[in-house]
Amino acid sequence: MPSTTSRKIEQSRRLQQRAESMIPGGVNSPVRAFGAVGGDPRFIVRGKGSHIWDADENEFIDYVGSWGPLILGHAAPDVLDAIVGAACNGTSFGASTPSEADLAEMVLAAVPSMQRVRFVSSGTEATMSAIRLARAYTKRKYIVKFEGCYHGHSDSLLVKAGSGVATLGIPGSAGVPEEFIQFTVALPFNDIKAVEYAFQKFKHQIACVIVEPVVGNMGCVPAADDYLVALRLITEREKSVLIFDEVMTGFRVAFGGAQELYNIRPDLTTLGKIIGGGLPVGAYGGSSEIMNLVAPLGPMYQAGTLSGNPLAMAAGCAMLKHLRDEKQEIYPRLEKLSGELVEGVAAAAKDSGVPLCHNRVGSMFTWYFTPGPVTDWESASKSNTEAFGRFFRAMLDRGVYLPPSQYEAAFLGSTHTAEDVQSTIAVAKQAFAAMKG
Ligand SMILES: *Cc1c(COP(=O)(O)O)cnc(C)c1O
Repeated sequence: MPSTTSRKIEQSRRLQQRAESMIPGGVNSPVRAFGAVGGDPRFIVRGKGSHIWDADENEFIDYVGSWGPLILGHAAPDVLDAIVGAACNGTSFGASTPSEADLAEMVLAAVPSMQRVRFVSSGTEATMSAIRLARAYTKRKYIVKFEGCYHGHSDSLLVKAGSGVATLGIPGSAGVPEEFIQFTVALPFNDIKAVEYAFQKFKHQIACVIVEPVVGNMGCVPAADDYLVALRLITEREKSVLIFDEVMTGFRVAFGGAQELYNIRPDLTTLGKIIGGGLPVGAYGGSSEIMNLVAPLGPMYQAGTLSGNPLAMAAGCAMLKHLRDEKQEIYPRLEKLSGELVEGVAAAAKDSGVPLCHNRVGSMFTWYFTPGPVTDWESASKSNTEAFGRFFRAMLDRGVYLPPSQYEAAFLGSTHTAEDVQSTIAVAKQAFAAMKG
Protein backbone atom coordinates (compact mmCIF):
# COMPACT_ATOMS: atom_id res chain seq x y z
CA MET A 1 0.00 0.00 0.00
CA PRO A 2 1.32 3.50 -0.72
CA SER A 3 2.67 5.07 2.41
CA THR A 4 0.18 7.29 4.20
CA THR A 5 2.72 8.68 6.64
CA SER A 6 3.83 12.29 6.55
CA ARG A 7 2.07 13.41 3.38
CA LYS A 8 3.57 16.77 2.59
CA ILE A 9 1.97 19.43 0.45
CA GLU A 10 4.31 22.46 0.60
CA GLN A 11 5.84 22.09 -2.86
CA SER A 12 2.50 21.55 -4.61
CA ARG A 13 1.06 24.61 -2.82
CA ARG A 14 4.03 26.73 -3.86
CA LEU A 15 3.79 25.55 -7.46
CA GLN A 16 0.04 26.20 -7.51
CA GLN A 17 0.54 29.78 -6.31
CA ARG A 18 3.20 30.35 -8.94
CA ALA A 19 1.05 28.89 -11.70
CA GLU A 20 -2.02 30.86 -10.59
CA SER A 21 -0.10 34.10 -10.91
CA MET A 22 0.30 33.49 -14.64
CA ILE A 23 -2.12 30.82 -15.90
CA PRO A 24 -5.93 31.10 -15.38
CA GLY A 25 -6.72 28.95 -12.36
CA GLY A 26 -3.15 27.67 -12.54
CA VAL A 27 -4.24 25.04 -15.08
CA ASN A 28 -4.05 24.61 -18.82
CA SER A 29 -7.24 22.51 -18.85
CA PRO A 30 -10.07 23.13 -16.35
CA VAL A 31 -10.55 19.42 -15.56
CA ARG A 32 -7.21 19.45 -13.72
CA ALA A 33 -8.46 22.00 -11.17
CA PHE A 34 -9.70 20.79 -7.78
CA GLY A 35 -12.53 23.34 -7.46
CA ALA A 36 -15.24 20.67 -7.56
CA VAL A 37 -13.64 18.41 -4.95
CA GLY A 38 -11.73 20.82 -2.69
CA GLY A 39 -8.23 20.28 -1.41
CA ASP A 40 -4.91 21.09 -2.98
CA PRO A 41 -4.08 20.10 -6.55
CA ARG A 42 -0.92 17.98 -6.67
CA PHE A 43 1.87 18.84 -9.07
CA ILE A 44 3.10 15.65 -10.66
CA VAL A 45 6.79 15.27 -11.38
CA ARG A 46 7.14 11.60 -12.32
CA GLY A 47 5.22 8.50 -13.33
CA LYS A 48 6.14 4.85 -13.75
CA GLY A 49 3.62 2.16 -14.64
CA SER A 50 0.48 2.63 -12.54
CA HIS A 51 2.08 5.00 -10.01
CA ILE A 52 2.80 8.74 -9.99
CA TRP A 53 4.79 10.98 -7.64
CA ASP A 54 4.09 14.58 -6.75
CA ALA A 55 6.49 17.47 -6.09
CA ASP A 56 6.51 16.58 -2.36
CA GLU A 57 7.52 12.98 -3.20
CA ASN A 58 4.12 11.53 -2.28
CA GLU A 59 3.30 8.38 -4.22
CA PHE A 60 -0.14 7.64 -5.69
CA ILE A 61 -1.82 4.79 -7.54
CA ASP A 62 -3.09 6.64 -10.59
CA TYR A 63 -6.57 6.05 -12.06
CA VAL A 64 -6.54 9.11 -14.34
CA GLY A 65 -3.89 7.91 -16.79
CA SER A 66 -3.68 11.38 -18.35
CA TRP A 67 -7.49 11.17 -18.86
CA GLY A 68 -7.34 8.05 -21.00
CA PRO A 69 -4.25 7.87 -23.20
CA LEU A 70 -1.98 5.90 -20.89
CA ILE A 71 -3.46 2.41 -21.23
CA LEU A 72 0.10 1.01 -20.99
CA GLY A 73 0.86 3.07 -17.89
CA HIS A 74 3.35 5.88 -17.36
CA ALA A 75 6.71 5.88 -19.14
CA ALA A 76 6.07 2.65 -21.06
CA PRO A 77 9.57 1.62 -22.23
CA ASP A 78 8.67 0.85 -25.85
CA VAL A 79 6.76 4.12 -26.23
CA LEU A 80 9.64 6.10 -24.70
CA ASP A 81 12.17 4.41 -26.99
CA ALA A 82 10.07 5.31 -30.03
CA ILE A 83 9.79 8.96 -28.96
CA VAL A 84 13.52 9.31 -28.26
CA GLY A 85 14.40 7.56 -31.52
CA ALA A 86 12.16 9.89 -33.53
CA ALA A 87 13.34 13.02 -31.70
CA CYS A 88 16.97 12.32 -32.58
CA ASN A 89 16.05 12.71 -36.25
CA GLY A 90 14.32 16.05 -35.77
CA THR A 91 11.01 17.01 -34.24
CA SER A 92 8.99 18.39 -37.15
CA PHE A 93 9.40 19.06 -40.86
CA GLY A 94 6.12 20.36 -42.21
CA ALA A 95 6.53 17.78 -44.93
CA SER A 96 5.29 14.21 -45.02
CA THR A 97 7.18 11.59 -43.03
CA PRO A 98 6.98 7.77 -43.31
CA SER A 99 5.57 7.32 -39.80
CA GLU A 100 2.24 8.93 -40.75
CA ALA A 101 1.40 6.02 -43.05
CA ASP A 102 2.67 3.57 -40.42
CA LEU A 103 0.16 4.85 -37.87
CA ALA A 104 -2.58 5.16 -40.51
CA GLU A 105 -2.06 1.52 -41.50
CA MET A 106 -2.43 0.37 -37.90
CA VAL A 107 -5.52 2.49 -37.26
CA LEU A 108 -7.27 1.38 -40.46
CA ALA A 109 -6.49 -2.28 -39.77
CA ALA A 110 -7.94 -2.01 -36.27
CA VAL A 111 -11.04 0.01 -37.21
CA PRO A 112 -12.49 -1.42 -40.45
CA SER A 113 -15.19 1.28 -40.81
CA MET A 114 -12.32 3.66 -41.57
CA GLN A 115 -10.92 3.42 -45.11
CA ARG A 116 -9.20 6.79 -44.91
CA VAL A 117 -7.89 8.75 -41.94
CA ARG A 118 -6.59 12.27 -41.34
CA PHE A 119 -4.37 12.99 -38.31
CA VAL A 120 -4.76 16.21 -36.30
CA SER A 121 -3.31 17.34 -32.97
CA SER A 122 -6.22 16.91 -30.52
CA GLY A 123 -9.59 15.27 -30.03
CA THR A 124 -11.20 18.71 -30.26
CA GLU A 125 -9.84 19.17 -33.77
CA ALA A 126 -10.93 15.65 -34.75
CA THR A 127 -14.57 16.15 -33.76
CA MET A 128 -14.73 19.71 -35.09
CA SER A 129 -13.41 18.50 -38.45
CA ALA A 130 -15.73 15.48 -38.53
CA ILE A 131 -18.73 17.77 -38.01
CA ARG A 132 -17.57 20.07 -40.81
CA LEU A 133 -17.09 17.06 -43.07
CA ALA A 134 -20.55 15.65 -42.28
CA ARG A 135 -22.07 19.02 -43.16
CA ALA A 136 -20.03 19.21 -46.37
CA TYR A 137 -21.07 15.68 -47.35
CA THR A 138 -24.80 16.02 -46.64
CA LYS A 139 -25.10 19.73 -47.47
CA ARG A 140 -27.25 19.99 -44.32
CA LYS A 141 -26.88 22.33 -41.32
CA TYR A 142 -28.25 20.72 -38.17
CA ILE A 143 -26.24 18.42 -35.93
CA VAL A 144 -27.53 16.20 -33.11
CA LYS A 145 -25.50 15.63 -29.95
CA PHE A 146 -26.43 14.25 -26.54
CA GLU A 147 -26.57 15.89 -23.12
CA GLY A 148 -23.52 15.02 -21.02
CA CYS A 149 -21.41 13.97 -24.03
CA TYR A 150 -18.23 15.98 -24.52
CA HIS A 151 -16.73 16.33 -27.98
CA GLY A 152 -14.00 18.89 -27.36
CA HIS A 153 -14.38 22.65 -27.02
CA SER A 154 -15.31 23.87 -30.51
CA ASP A 155 -18.19 26.39 -30.52
CA SER A 156 -20.98 24.30 -32.00
CA LEU A 157 -20.30 21.35 -29.68
CA LEU A 158 -20.23 23.27 -26.37
CA VAL A 159 -23.93 22.72 -25.77
CA LYS A 160 -25.00 20.74 -22.69
CA ALA A 161 -21.51 19.27 -22.80
CA GLY A 162 -20.03 16.87 -20.27
CA SER A 163 -16.55 16.82 -18.73
CA GLY A 164 -15.36 20.12 -17.24
CA VAL A 165 -18.49 21.91 -18.46
CA ALA A 166 -20.65 19.51 -16.41
CA THR A 167 -18.26 19.67 -13.44
CA LEU A 168 -18.60 23.45 -13.36
CA GLY A 169 -22.40 23.15 -13.72
CA ILE A 170 -22.69 25.54 -16.66
CA PRO A 171 -24.98 24.92 -19.68
CA GLY A 172 -22.41 25.83 -22.32
CA SER A 173 -19.77 28.50 -22.61
CA ALA A 174 -19.65 32.28 -22.55
CA GLY A 175 -18.33 33.66 -25.81
CA VAL A 176 -20.33 31.29 -28.01
CA PRO A 177 -22.96 33.39 -29.82
CA GLU A 178 -26.46 31.91 -29.91
CA GLU A 179 -26.27 32.07 -33.69
CA PHE A 180 -23.30 29.67 -33.62
CA ILE A 181 -25.27 26.97 -31.82
CA GLN A 182 -28.68 27.44 -33.40
CA PHE A 183 -28.05 24.36 -35.54
CA THR A 184 -26.97 22.18 -32.61
CA VAL A 185 -29.75 19.99 -31.23
CA ALA A 186 -28.92 18.50 -27.80
CA LEU A 187 -31.01 15.47 -26.83
CA PRO A 188 -31.08 13.21 -23.77
CA PHE A 189 -28.75 10.18 -24.11
CA ASN A 190 -30.28 6.69 -24.26
CA ASP A 191 -33.66 8.04 -25.44
CA ILE A 192 -34.30 6.89 -29.00
CA LYS A 193 -37.76 8.54 -29.17
CA ALA A 194 -36.11 11.93 -28.77
CA VAL A 195 -33.95 11.14 -31.82
CA GLU A 196 -36.96 10.08 -33.91
CA TYR A 197 -38.73 13.29 -32.91
CA ALA A 198 -35.74 15.44 -33.90
CA PHE A 199 -35.56 13.80 -37.33
CA GLN A 200 -39.27 14.51 -37.83
CA LYS A 201 -38.96 18.10 -36.70
CA PHE A 202 -35.86 18.84 -38.82
CA LYS A 203 -36.73 16.63 -41.78
CA HIS A 204 -33.84 16.29 -44.29
CA GLN A 205 -31.87 18.94 -42.36
CA ILE A 206 -29.78 16.89 -39.91
CA ALA A 207 -26.24 16.45 -41.20
CA CYS A 208 -25.08 14.09 -38.47
CA VAL A 209 -25.56 12.49 -35.10
CA ILE A 210 -22.42 12.56 -32.97
CA VAL A 211 -22.24 10.26 -29.95
CA GLU A 212 -19.79 8.82 -27.46
CA PRO A 213 -20.74 5.13 -27.91
CA VAL A 214 -19.79 4.61 -24.27
CA VAL A 215 -20.06 8.01 -22.62
CA GLY A 216 -17.03 8.83 -20.53
CA ASN A 217 -17.59 12.52 -19.98
CA MET A 218 -20.51 12.53 -17.53
CA GLY A 219 -18.71 9.74 -15.75
CA CYS A 220 -19.06 6.39 -17.47
CA VAL A 221 -22.53 5.75 -18.95
CA PRO A 222 -22.95 2.81 -21.33
CA ALA A 223 -25.49 2.88 -24.13
CA ALA A 224 -28.64 0.89 -23.35
CA ASP A 225 -29.19 -2.36 -25.25
CA ASP A 226 -29.94 -1.67 -28.92
CA TYR A 227 -29.61 2.12 -28.52
CA LEU A 228 -26.57 2.28 -30.82
CA VAL A 229 -28.24 -0.11 -33.27
CA ALA A 230 -31.27 2.18 -33.35
CA LEU A 231 -29.05 5.22 -33.96
CA ARG A 232 -27.43 3.36 -36.85
CA LEU A 233 -30.80 2.41 -38.38
CA ILE A 234 -32.31 5.88 -38.07
CA THR A 235 -29.27 7.72 -39.47
CA GLU A 236 -29.09 5.25 -42.37
CA ARG A 237 -32.78 5.72 -43.13
CA GLU A 238 -32.48 9.52 -42.93
CA LYS A 239 -29.21 9.64 -44.94
CA SER A 240 -27.56 11.40 -42.03
CA VAL A 241 -23.95 10.76 -41.01
CA LEU A 242 -23.40 8.73 -37.82
CA ILE A 243 -20.24 9.86 -36.01
CA PHE A 244 -18.83 7.71 -33.22
CA ASP A 245 -16.63 9.93 -31.09
CA GLU A 246 -14.16 7.26 -29.96
CA VAL A 247 -11.53 9.70 -28.72
CA MET A 248 -11.86 8.01 -25.34
CA THR A 249 -13.21 4.54 -26.22
CA GLY A 250 -10.93 3.85 -29.21
CA PHE A 251 -8.40 1.12 -28.29
CA ARG A 252 -9.80 1.39 -24.73
CA VAL A 253 -12.99 -0.67 -24.46
CA ALA A 254 -11.64 -3.07 -27.12
CA PHE A 255 -8.73 -2.91 -29.55
CA GLY A 256 -11.14 -1.84 -32.30
CA GLY A 257 -13.04 0.49 -29.96
CA ALA A 258 -16.74 0.52 -29.07
CA GLN A 259 -17.65 -0.18 -32.70
CA GLU A 260 -15.88 -3.54 -32.41
CA LEU A 261 -17.38 -4.26 -28.99
CA TYR A 262 -20.95 -3.58 -30.18
CA ASN A 263 -20.40 -4.56 -33.82
CA ILE A 264 -21.69 -1.33 -35.41
CA ARG A 265 -20.18 0.58 -38.31
CA PRO A 266 -20.46 4.35 -37.99
CA ASP A 267 -19.90 6.54 -41.05
CA LEU A 268 -17.21 8.62 -39.39
CA THR A 269 -15.03 7.91 -36.37
CA THR A 270 -12.99 10.30 -34.29
CA LEU A 271 -9.97 9.13 -32.31
CA GLY A 272 -7.42 10.69 -29.98
CA LYS A 273 -5.97 9.93 -26.56
CA ILE A 274 -4.57 6.35 -26.85
CA ILE A 275 -3.56 6.67 -30.52
CA GLY A 276 -1.06 9.38 -29.54
CA GLY A 277 0.70 7.24 -26.95
CA GLY A 278 0.57 10.19 -24.53
CA LEU A 279 1.54 12.83 -27.10
CA PRO A 280 -0.97 15.24 -28.70
CA VAL A 281 -2.83 13.44 -31.50
CA GLY A 282 -6.35 13.21 -32.86
CA ALA A 283 -7.75 11.58 -35.98
CA TYR A 284 -10.93 11.41 -38.00
CA GLY A 285 -11.83 8.99 -40.71
CA GLY A 286 -14.42 6.93 -42.51
CA SER A 287 -15.30 5.72 -45.97
CA SER A 288 -13.22 6.90 -48.94
CA GLU A 289 -16.37 8.42 -50.41
CA ILE A 290 -16.77 10.83 -47.49
CA MET A 291 -13.08 11.37 -46.74
CA ASN A 292 -12.29 12.28 -50.36
CA LEU A 293 -14.10 15.56 -49.70
CA VAL A 294 -11.21 16.63 -47.46
CA ALA A 295 -8.69 19.11 -48.93
CA PRO A 296 -6.58 18.84 -51.02
CA LEU A 297 -8.76 16.17 -52.72
CA GLY A 298 -12.00 17.97 -52.03
CA PRO A 299 -13.57 21.25 -50.88
CA MET A 300 -13.69 20.63 -47.10
CA TYR A 301 -10.74 22.53 -45.63
CA GLN A 302 -8.81 21.40 -42.60
CA ALA A 303 -5.10 21.80 -41.83
CA GLY A 304 -2.47 21.75 -39.06
CA THR A 305 1.17 22.89 -38.76
CA LEU A 306 2.07 20.03 -36.41
CA SER A 307 -0.47 17.47 -37.68
CA GLY A 308 1.09 14.02 -38.07
CA ASN A 309 4.03 15.16 -35.97
CA PRO A 310 6.83 12.54 -36.13
CA LEU A 311 7.20 12.22 -32.35
CA ALA A 312 3.46 11.77 -31.88
CA MET A 313 3.24 9.28 -34.76
CA ALA A 314 6.15 7.28 -33.33
CA ALA A 315 4.55 7.20 -29.88
CA GLY A 316 1.20 6.18 -31.36
CA CYS A 317 2.78 3.43 -33.46
CA ALA A 318 4.61 1.98 -30.46
CA MET A 319 1.43 2.08 -28.39
CA LEU A 320 -0.80 0.45 -31.00
CA LYS A 321 1.81 -2.17 -31.89
CA HIS A 322 2.09 -3.14 -28.22
CA LEU A 323 -1.71 -3.33 -27.86
CA ARG A 324 -2.08 -5.28 -31.13
CA ASP A 325 0.59 -7.83 -30.26
CA GLU A 326 -0.73 -8.42 -26.73
CA LYS A 327 -4.44 -7.71 -27.09
CA GLN A 328 -5.41 -11.31 -26.28
CA GLU A 329 -3.86 -10.89 -22.84
CA ILE A 330 -4.27 -7.17 -22.16
CA TYR A 331 -8.01 -6.61 -22.72
CA PRO A 332 -9.27 -9.68 -20.80
CA ARG A 333 -6.92 -8.80 -17.94
CA LEU A 334 -8.14 -5.17 -17.90
CA GLU A 335 -11.72 -6.47 -17.81
CA LYS A 336 -11.03 -8.80 -14.90
CA LEU A 337 -9.00 -6.39 -12.75
CA SER A 338 -11.35 -3.47 -13.42
CA GLY A 339 -14.31 -5.64 -12.40
CA GLU A 340 -12.61 -6.62 -9.16
CA LEU A 341 -11.74 -3.01 -8.37
CA VAL A 342 -15.11 -1.48 -9.20
CA GLU A 343 -17.12 -4.15 -7.41
CA GLY A 344 -14.71 -4.25 -4.46
CA VAL A 345 -15.09 -0.53 -3.84
CA ALA A 346 -18.88 -0.72 -4.36
CA ALA A 347 -19.07 -3.53 -1.77
CA ALA A 348 -17.02 -1.42 0.67
CA ALA A 349 -19.50 1.46 0.19
CA LYS A 350 -22.42 -0.89 0.82
CA ASP A 351 -20.80 -2.18 4.04
CA SER A 352 -20.36 1.43 5.17
CA GLY A 353 -23.93 2.37 4.27
CA VAL A 354 -22.82 4.91 1.64
CA PRO A 355 -25.36 5.10 -1.23
CA LEU A 356 -23.38 4.46 -4.40
CA CYS A 357 -23.88 2.91 -7.81
CA HIS A 358 -21.31 2.10 -10.46
CA ASN A 359 -21.02 1.91 -14.22
CA ARG A 360 -18.20 0.19 -16.04
CA VAL A 361 -17.31 -0.87 -19.57
CA GLY A 362 -13.96 -2.65 -19.64
CA SER A 363 -11.37 -0.42 -18.01
CA MET A 364 -13.57 2.75 -18.02
CA PHE A 365 -15.64 3.23 -14.87
CA THR A 366 -17.30 5.60 -12.39
CA TRP A 367 -18.60 5.31 -8.84
CA TYR A 368 -21.60 7.64 -8.58
CA PHE A 369 -22.68 8.87 -5.15
CA THR A 370 -26.35 8.21 -5.84
CA PRO A 371 -28.43 5.02 -5.55
CA GLY A 372 -28.81 5.18 -9.35
CA PRO A 373 -29.11 3.71 -11.85
CA VAL A 374 -27.23 6.31 -13.91
CA THR A 375 -28.27 6.10 -17.56
CA ASP A 376 -28.12 9.71 -18.78
CA TRP A 377 -27.20 13.22 -17.68
CA GLU A 378 -30.38 13.71 -15.64
CA SER A 379 -29.73 10.64 -13.49
CA ALA A 380 -25.97 11.35 -13.28
CA SER A 381 -26.64 14.88 -12.05
CA LYS A 382 -28.53 13.51 -9.03
CA SER A 383 -25.16 12.46 -7.59
CA ASN A 384 -24.08 13.90 -4.27
CA THR A 385 -21.01 15.74 -5.52
CA GLU A 386 -20.17 16.96 -2.01
CA ALA A 387 -19.92 13.33 -0.87
CA PHE A 388 -17.82 12.54 -3.93
CA GLY A 389 -15.48 15.39 -2.96
CA ARG A 390 -15.05 13.97 0.56
CA PHE A 391 -14.37 10.51 -0.91
CA PHE A 392 -11.92 11.94 -3.44
CA ARG A 393 -9.94 13.79 -0.74
CA ALA A 394 -9.91 10.79 1.58
CA MET A 395 -8.56 8.60 -1.24
CA LEU A 396 -5.98 11.20 -2.26
CA ASP A 397 -4.72 11.55 1.33
CA ARG A 398 -4.19 7.79 1.36
CA GLY A 399 -2.34 7.60 -1.95
CA VAL A 400 -5.03 6.97 -4.57
CA TYR A 401 -5.39 9.54 -7.37
CA LEU A 402 -8.90 9.59 -8.90
CA PRO A 403 -10.29 12.08 -11.44
CA PRO A 404 -11.12 15.25 -9.46
CA SER A 405 -14.77 15.26 -10.55
CA GLN A 406 -17.84 13.04 -10.16
CA TYR A 407 -18.42 13.52 -13.90
CA GLU A 408 -15.24 12.02 -15.28
CA ALA A 409 -14.48 8.36 -15.93
CA ALA A 410 -11.57 6.66 -14.18
CA PHE A 411 -9.27 4.26 -16.01
CA LEU A 412 -7.25 1.19 -15.28
CA GLY A 413 -4.21 0.32 -17.40
CA SER A 414 -2.13 -2.73 -18.21
CA THR A 415 0.46 -1.89 -15.54
CA HIS A 416 -2.02 -1.85 -12.66
CA THR A 417 -1.44 -4.93 -10.53
CA ALA A 418 -3.71 -7.11 -8.42
CA GLU A 419 -1.89 -5.56 -5.47
CA ASP A 420 -2.77 -2.02 -6.65
CA VAL A 421 -6.40 -3.08 -6.84
CA GLN A 422 -6.47 -4.72 -3.41
CA SER A 423 -4.71 -1.69 -1.86
CA THR A 424 -7.23 0.63 -3.47
CA ILE A 425 -10.16 -1.37 -2.11
CA ALA A 426 -8.57 -1.34 1.35
CA VAL A 427 -8.01 2.42 1.10
CA ALA A 428 -11.63 2.90 -0.04
CA LYS A 429 -12.85 1.10 3.10
CA GLN A 430 -10.89 3.58 5.22
CA ALA A 431 -12.13 6.47 3.07
CA PHE A 432 -15.79 5.52 3.47
CA ALA A 433 -15.26 5.20 7.23
CA ALA A 434 -13.50 8.59 7.34
CA MET A 435 -16.34 10.20 5.35
CA LYS A 436 -18.85 9.23 8.03
CA GLY A 437 -16.69 10.23 10.96
C1 LIG B 1 -11.07 13.92 -24.58
C2 LIG B 1 -12.21 13.89 -25.52
C3 LIG B 1 -12.32 14.83 -26.57
C4 LIG B 1 -11.40 16.01 -26.71
O1 LIG B 1 -10.09 15.64 -26.93
P1 LIG B 1 -8.91 16.71 -26.63
O2 LIG B 1 -7.68 16.01 -27.09
O3 LIG B 1 -8.98 16.97 -25.15
O4 LIG B 1 -9.22 17.93 -27.41
C5 LIG B 1 -13.34 14.66 -27.48
N1 LIG B 1 -14.21 13.65 -27.37
C6 LIG B 1 -14.15 12.75 -26.37
C7 LIG B 1 -15.13 11.63 -26.31
C8 LIG B 1 -13.16 12.85 -25.40
O5 LIG B 1 -13.12 11.98 -24.39
